[in-house]
Amino acid sequence: MNALSYDADLLVVGAGPAGVAAALMASSLGLRTMVLEGDIVGGRLHTIGSLENVPGGWTTGPQLAEALIADLTRLQQAGLCTLVQERATKVGGYADRAEVALADGRTFLARTIVVATGVAALAPRDVDWVSAPDQFSAPPLWRTPPAACTGPTFVLGGDRPLGTWLRAHADAGTALHVLYPPTDDYKIEEVSRDERVRLLPVSHVTLARLSDGDGWRVLVTDRQGARHAYAAATVVGNLGSKPAAPEGVVQGEDGYCPPQHQHHRIRIAGDLRSSRFQRIVTAQGSAAECVLAHYYASASPVGKGGVQ
Ligand SMILES: Cc1cc2nc3c(=O)[nH]c(=O)nc-3n(C[C@H](O)[C@H](O)[C@H](O)COP(=O)(O)OP(=O)(O)OC[C@H]3O[C@@H](n4cnc5c(N)ncnc54)[C@H](O)[C@@H]3O)c2cc1C
Repeated sequence: MNALSYDADLLVVGAGPAGVAAALMASSLGLRTMVLEGDIVGGRLHTIGSLENVPGGWTTGPQLAEALIADLTRLQQAGLCTLVQERATKVGGYADRAEVALADGRTFLARTIVVATGVAALAPRDVDWVSAPDQFSAPPLWRTPPAACTGPTFVLGGDRPLGTWLRAHADAGTALHVLYPPTDDYKIEEVSRDERVRLLPVSHVTLARLSDGDGWRVLVTDRQGARHAYAAATVVGNLGSKPAAPEGVVQGEDGYCPPQHQHHRIRIAGDLRSSRFQRIVTAQGSAAECVLAHYYASASPVGKGGVQ
């Protein structure tokens, strides 16, 4: 039988903080490394306007993202890593290989694949407590500067980016009307004392275009079943996120991908693991551990001793 020709020892899908940490660790161990990124290196870091809990003095996500881009560039220039800008559609683990299929039709083979594709923003059509016209898509709150909030601004959902937005725009006087379902109650506490936030606990929201086509009619059913109508100039989305797993990864009931349930050649890092471990530092640590687990599983006891 012909020996397999691997495109890489370790293939990393997703170049957010987890994927870049995996690439750095793999390169430091002398593994031939390939990274697939479907959008922009740095992932969700680009959305974080204010950062306080990452060692090293980073104060915004884009700042850290730039440093990670520089890290990957350095690895590429040193010939230690290849970056492929394409989306992975499917991964698979087999006895002798792991495979990834790309959106452009290519397939790559590796000894192990680290999947670090994180989460994607929920759209209004993904949640049952919002009814909106088919063509409606709410721009994400984190991408909306205060200057774009002209007139009454309504936020769909009470997810954590709300707190980040308020901290990042501490000087903005913009009032935000936040419509949030019971499942977001526990997240609201951190913003409840900010005077710019008007909290509207809801059980259902229906959006319809105002007749002049400029703005939205917001019909709210509150938690007691009473109905209220508002006019909104701007409606932005803050609905939370869902796992962005490519096909072939084993998913739990909640859509997340428990590392322990995967084929041994498919390892899961970062936010994709669980809704509970969604932080930059844990994403990076989990990715480094995936690489070390691959490395020590494939190292012979004699041949690869002594690596730090
Ligand atoms: C507004 C906001 C504020 C936050 N604030 C903080 C904070 O203060 N502190 C903190 O620790 N954490 C914070 N987080 C969480 C933090 O951003 C995440 O925990 C971290 O980015 C997770 O890293 P990751 O690499 O797992 O995923 P991501 O950063 O989501 O990166 C995943 C990457 O995979 C790519 N990808 C997805 N699908 C595919 C595919 N099929 N093929 C190829 N590439 C793909 C994406 O384009 C992306 O680049 C915040 C998040 C948000 C949204």
